[in-house]
Amino acid sequence: MSSEEERRCGHVALVGAPNVGKSTLLNELIGAKVSIVSPKVQTTRSRILGIAIEGAAQLIFVDTPGIFTPKRRLERAMVAAAWAGAADADLVVVLIDAARGVDEDARRIIDGLKSAGRRAVLALNKVDLVSPTRLLPLTAALDKEGIFAAVFMVSALSGDGVADLKRHLAGAVPAGPWLFPEDQLTDLPQRLIAAEITREQVFLQLHQELPYATFVETDEWQEREDGSVRVAQTIHVQRDSQKAIVLGKAGRQIKEIGARARAELERVLGRRVHLFLFVRVTEDWTEDRARYRDMGLEFES
Ligand code: GDP
Ligand code: MG
Repeated sequence: MSSEEERRCGHVALVGAPNVGKSTLLNELIGAKVSIVSPKVQTTRSRILGIAIEGAAQLIFVDTPGIFTPKRRLERAMVAAAWAGAADADLVVVLIDAARGVDEDARRIIDGLKSAGRRAVLALNKVDLVSPTRLLPLTAALDKEGIFAAVFMVSALSGDGVADLKRHLAGAVPAGPWLFPEDQLTDLPQRLIAAEITREQVFLQLHQELPYATFVETDEWQEREDGSVRVAQTIHVQRDSQKAIVLGKAGRQIKEIGARARAELERVLGRRVHLFLFVRVTEDWTEDRARYRDMGLEFES
């Protein structure tokens, strides 16, 4: 146990292009699932906190939506939230996909940090996908950018290198008291985590524009005497045709989404869950102010 005087604490923002593995890395750093992951871009919509203890340090990680060139309102709000996450943090970790290298999105992030005069820690992720001979020139080129205080090669998926990165961050956050109770892993309420877990299944099981037309809301959360919990949720879509796809033939698709979400929710919560899903058409949810407030996003971004 660390004494109060030697404690350290800080916010560490994880930023990067869509799909570089920010949420996977967050979960690995925390040792629990607090942020949902899918092979599709823009899975993460808002800022998500994951909290870890490393020696005398409490690390408050901020998972952010990917930084890309936004077109629609929701995208603009997501990118704004990502930059705000970086601006507010004590430390910034930039993730770059080792297989993708410095593409247009990575370039924008590096240039954005430079013009903000910020230094960052570089985490070259997905090193499991590339040969070491290709990594060397890439790290050398990134080093020349002059903004990286340290460079780590990691695989968020396998966990390789993540402990080293965590130790480095623990030594780099400022001295100060811990801001959260020792056993707290996230600031997300359980109802929201539950909605995110169902949304993860929507991202994993549905394709094309559908995941992006969808949001999930937990309507009911009822504790039961036997220790289980009854959760009712609505999957909102924008059109009738989308509703038909989410339901599937004879309700097969919604059943599959519900079955997998329930299993994942039981795993995450460590208790039995009764999950009830409904599908509703809410045409204009991406233009609804209240929606953005609930997600912790700025409507006018
Ligand atoms: P985010 O959009 O940056 O939050 O990325 P996610 O964490 O959602 O991950 C996007 C995809 O990359 C998912 O399919 C992950 O399983 C995959 N991924 C993340 N980290 C790694 C890694 O280290 N190696 C490999 N091979 N895949 C990874
Ligand atoms: Mg993410």
